[in-house]
Amino acid sequence: MTKVYVLNPPYIPHFGRAMRWQDTGRAGTLYYPIWLSYATGVLEQEYETRLVDAPAWGWDRKQVIEDVKKFEPDLIVMDSSFPSLNNDISVAEEIKSNCPDVRIVLVGPPASQFPDRILQSNGIDIVAHWEYESTVREIAGVLDEKRELEEIKGISYKDGGRIVHNSSREFTTPEDLDKIPFVSKIYKRHLNVRDYFLGNSLYPEVQIFTGRGCPFQCTFCSWPQTLMGREYRVRSTSNILDEMEWVQRNLPQVKEVFFEDDTFTLDKRRVNSLTKQYMERGLSIAWACNARVGLDYDTMRRMKGANCRLLIVGYESGSNAILKGIKKGITIEETRQFAQNATKAGLLINGDFIIGLPGETKETIEQTRRLINEIKPDILQVSVASPFPGTEFYEWARSNGYLITDDPNEYLDEQGHQKAIISYPELSAEEIVKAVDEMLKGYYFSPEFVPIVLRQIFRRHGWHELKRIWRLSWQFIKYISSRNGGTQ
Ligand code: SF4
Repeated sequence: MTKVYVLNPPYIPHFGRAMRWQDTGRAGTLYYPIWLSYATGVLEQEYETRLVDAPAWGWDRKQVIEDVKKFEPDLIVMDSSFPSLNNDISVAEEIKSNCPDVRIVLVGPPASQFPDRILQSNGIDIVAHWEYESTVREIAGVLDEKRELEEIKGISYKDGGRIVHNSSREFTTPEDLDKIPFVSKIYKRHLNVRDYFLGNSLYPEVQIFTGRGCPFQCTFCSWPQTLMGREYRVRSTSNILDEMEWVQRNLPQVKEVFFEDDTFTLDKRRVNSLTKQYMERGLSIAWACNARVGLDYDTMRRMKGANCRLLIVGYESGSNAILKGIKKGITIEETRQFAQNATKAGLLINGDFIIGLPGETKETIEQTRRLINEIKPDILQVSVASPFPGTEFYEWARSNGYLITDDPNEYLDEQGHQKAIISYPELSAEEIVKAVDEMLKGYYFSPEFVPIVLRQIFRRHGWHELKRIWRLSWQFIKYISSRNGGTQ
């Protein structure tokens, strides 16, 4: 029987390839290797499969190679990300030089953007583009002599000295999504839920997808433009609730289910149906999700009634001109309304902002700072704008000469934190990073943050909120101290 080894390869400890802005996380954040876990579930239906998360387990290359030799796989499915691409390719080469018979397929966003470059490496035999669970199952089928490589959609591969690009694969349908095994079962079987931490979620949590793809056109946003596409497809409500029920019964230590969908609240009717059926089933586990400005108060209230605890929302900027330029499709007036409604409904808000988007100046940074202080999110996240290859933002920055480097391997500093690789005539890369750090420090270290913390503690799950805030604060202080130590 074909054996498949699914690998989140070693890099900087706690590096998150499944994060939107891939780095080591300023607040101790560590994402599950979500997409690899879904692929593991699909592969396991037919093949003996082992999932290894090296950044979470602190494994180095030597440990991975020893483990690969012990498991003796026929196929390795290996994840990649833009900031770790050189490292990921070299991990594949080292494995291959130790285990020359194994075939290695690289997955993840770079696989769709740079297939030719990746296949120059002796370590990689095949790349799988975009959404890849079915693709890797079919590749395993080739080793099992059930298929031929030339029949498999959505891959590029080496054939002698030639690189072959097969035709594209269609994205999954809602029916397909309902057939994919629950990712929580994979976490339970292969990983330790206590290894993963989201600064905004109760600990421990599990991250699941209830839908994939996002139809909005935000120019900076990587996932729809490099992995999951713009076509929105969703699991059925009963399938999602079955998984939540499974988590509640079988992972009693888990305090929260996080819906990692790009925009869970896109279809209001679906959200309302889910909250209604959640109540009818008498579920009690808390949940959180990514939401979008524009969600109405009534839906928020129903979500809160069905144990939704927190919304993560991309506010992005305090400047309407920037929001328009990035095609976000929201205004700061709508942001204000959203923030008011969420507070009234009793939901916590994790507000995300980005510094360094097209049109950013010292004045727009100030506007963003003012908006943050006005709407006071419970959890504030501020990121450096990173133009990832494949996005409209990247093409814009490159064609205007604003990229300091077009090598995504240079996106992180030595500690694995985001650095700015974009510089404008009016705003340098150093000023962008400084603004991010100052905005975070100014918010979290201000006396005005005390009532915001208290609001989080004096509510359901207060003790767990307190533990989360304590852990988050500790990690954040460590991050700020390391920045002050002059790593940039
Ligand atoms: S709405 Fe959110 S997920 Fe969708 S493209 Fe915009 S930023 Fe990305």
